[in-house]
Formats: sequence, C-alpha cells, structure tokens
Amino acid sequence: MKFYPTVGLEVHVELKTKSKMFCSCPVGEWEEPNTAVCPVCMGHPGTLPVPNRGAVVFAVALGLSLDGEISRVSQFYRKNYFYPDLPKGYQITQYSVPIIRNANLLGVRIERINLEEETAKSLHMEDGSVLLDFNRAGIPLLEIVSAPDIRDPEEARRYLVALQAVVRFLGISDAHMEKGQMRVDVNVSVSPDPDRLGTKVEIKNLNSFKAVADAIRYEIKRQSEVLSSGGEIRHETRMWNGKSTEPMRVKETESDYRYFPEPDIPPLHVDDSVLEEAKGMLVEMPWEKEERYREEGVPSHLASVLAYDRDLSEAYERIKDVDPKLTADLLLNVVLGKLNKAGKSLRDFDLSGFREFVKAFKEGKFLRDYLKEGIERHIGGGQPFSEIIENAPKVEKVDIRPFVEELIRNNPKEVEKYCKGQRGVIGFFVGQVMRKYRGKVDPREVRRVVEELLDNA
Ligand code: ZN
Ligand code: MN
Repeated sequence: MKFYPTVGLEVHVELKTKSKMFCSCPVGEWEEPNTAVCPVCMGHPGTLPVPNRGAVVFAVALGLSLDGEISRVSQFYRKNYFYPDLPKGYQITQYSVPIIRNANLLGVRIERINLEEETAKSLHMEDGSVLLDFNRAGIPLLEIVSAPDIRDPEEARRYLVALQAVVRFLGISDAHMEKGQMRVDVNVSVSPDPDRLGTKVEIKNLNSFKAVADAIRYEIKRQSEVLSSGGEIRHETRMWNGKSTEPMRVKETESDYRYFPEPDIPPLHVDDSVLEEAKGMLVEMPWEKEERYREEGVPSHLASVLAYDRDLSEAYERIKDVDPKLTADLLLNVVLGKLNKAGKSLRDFDLSGFREFVKAFKEGKFLRDYLKEGIERHIGGGQPFSEIIENAPKVEKVDIRPFVEELIRNNPKEVEKYCKGQRGVIGFFVGQVMRKYRGKVDPREVRRVVEELLDNA
C-alpha cells in the first residue's frame, strides 16, 4: 500500500531584542540564573505587561522578508496551562489574528507568525530535581507555523536552513539550535489518499536539523506500518529519543487552553513608523544571494551553501574581488574542513590575512600547491598569513618546453596514441615533467604546454 506523507513545521525563534517582550529586563546571556527578572516577567499580581516595540519591528521585518501580510491591528491572547516554567499560569501569545499571515518560504506556505513570550528554562538535575531559570521567561518569541506543504525530511531541512539564514541575515535572532534559540516541532501524518490528510502526530522540541530529519523519517515509517497492519494513528504528542519517537501525552485540544483576549494589553497597532523601521532592516535574502553568486561565477553547488550561511557569505564577500570562484572553492573545500578538524570556527580565522594570501597567489608569487599548505600552516600551526606569504617557495622561471619537446621525440608510440584520440596520454607526459620539476611548476601550466606541443607534433 502506498502512503503519502505530509509534514508541517512549527518553529520558535528567540528574538535578540535589548529587553524582554513585556518588561524592561535585559535579553542576553547571563552568568547567574534568576537575575534578569522583575515583577512583570515573574507574573506578580497587579503588574502590567507593555509590548516591546522592537520585537514588533523584528516580527514585521521577517513578515516583509517572507512576503507575508502584515496585520495592522492584531491582538494578544492568554493561553492558559499550568507548568512550573510559566510564572503567570498562562502564556501571552496571539490567536485569532497573528501579526503576520500568509507568508511563504521556498514555496512552503507559512500560515501565521505569532508574537509571544518565552517560558523559563528548566534544568533537569541528576538527582531528579528540576531547577528553574527565569532569566529566559519573557524573552520575545516568534512562533512560525507552516502549512502542511512539506513532503520529506530533505525538504524540511531546506526550509529550516533557509529560515535560520533569514533571521540571522536580518539580525533578529542568532537562532542557534544547540542553545535553544531556535526550536522545532514537527507535525507528521501519512495518508493512503493524496487528497486527504491523515491523523497528525506532533513531535516536540527537536534541537538539531539532523534530529528533525531523523524524526520525520522514523514517523513516516512507523505510521505507514501501523496503517498497513490495520491499526489506527492516535492524535498525540510524541518525543524523539535519538532513535525513535515515543508517546508523551495525548494532544491537548484548543479548548484545554481556554484562550481569551489579554485584558491588560490593548490591540497591537503596526503604525507607519514601525513599518518604515522594519523596511529599513530588509536585506538581500539568501536565495537572492545564491543567484548573484552564480552570476559572479561561483559553481551552483558551492553558491547554494555559501548563500545560506551568514559567516561564510560574509567571508566570501570580503575576498571575492580577488577571484570569486577560487575564494568559494577554498573557503568551502579547504578552510572549512581544516577549521572543523581544529575545532575552530570562521570567526577564529584571519580573513584579511587570507585575502592577501589569495591575492599573492593570483599575482603569481607562489604555486597552487602552496595554497592548501599555507591554509594548513595558519589554521593548524597558527602562523600568520604575512609570514606564510613571505616564506612561500619562490616560483622559478623554468622553461619546460625543451624537456617536453625531448619527451615527444623519445616517445613516438605515445604521440601516435594521442593523435588517434587517446587523450589520457597527456597524463603520461605531465607526470614526467612534474617528476623533473617537482614544486617548481604549476601542473595546470604543464598540462597546457604539453597539450599545445602534442597538438603540433
Ligand atoms: Zn522582567
Ligand atoms: Mn508557541
């Protein structure tokens, strides 16, 4: 029996505003737990929440970037549930009218983007106790809810990579999944009928792209097997344990949350000044970057990786005028791998030094072989690029033509093969030249000369 999988994603992104969503407590990384708190974010009776204009601007900037409709008037609601990480016993979120509707990302519809507040952070201790850090409670959150438009794990990954890139390029969130700044819930269903959705199962709080893809793959298989054997899918919330999903609880229905309009906050107006400020934040989107990089001569497969990564694309932009294709190639195929191996990131890498290094190569100061070696000396050995350039083996002006001509005279059989169309023979000649002039000549140049002389032979 064939089953059609459908996936929807609900993503929470923490906004890096200066202060929290409804009070003036600072947002950031703290040394001490429970220090960035006040009566408002602790939910003391009698306090009044005041929406953070900065968070509203950030939400609108994302909405505009994803071609969404901006609600000029929206409303905050109370979502009631009892949990220790929720000081007030309810979360202030949006419900009937979200701040953004009908957006779109890489062809996946985004039904709504709600502006809401973060909960406290629970720390589960080894002895079974739970500690709570309320520094996180009240940080502005965007809840980005896609339509069930995604078909497979790879498409889900592409969507999430793009969303992470967009919020990073806009500068509204660092969206580090391992830090919980971006969290993903997935809804998966399978159906024997492509025109009808099956019963959906929610998998909560996935914190890496790999976990998302693995959990989706697992759920599609599990649900298909249940249905094939005549079983039924329960509408439930499950959790991912790294290998499989296991039941967590039967899904709450909307009425369990007893949503009602937040009486302490008047309707939220996006006025012209907010809209103008959000427009001022707009930047080139990663898919636009990708297109531009291709036009600049970067091969497609490299362009798509570069364009969706903030650090890589910034590095590329700083060096590309020296040689776009070579820059992209070195960054992705050499620098990144060596950095990973050394446990370092691009931020530890001397980009302006690297720029001079690539420039020196382009000016013919050393041979191609030395590019990799120099990068290794910098990343592995900590040598500054200025020294690496200075110590580069000097390119001697060797004229290889007489030697190639001699080879051609002494190997008539090989030349004959070449004339009959066996181009592999070029390697035979190039190999001999490289053995004689190791480290002094550029293999590409040798190849060019060999070809030219063979053609005239
Ligand atoms: Zn506060
Ligand atoms: Mn939420």
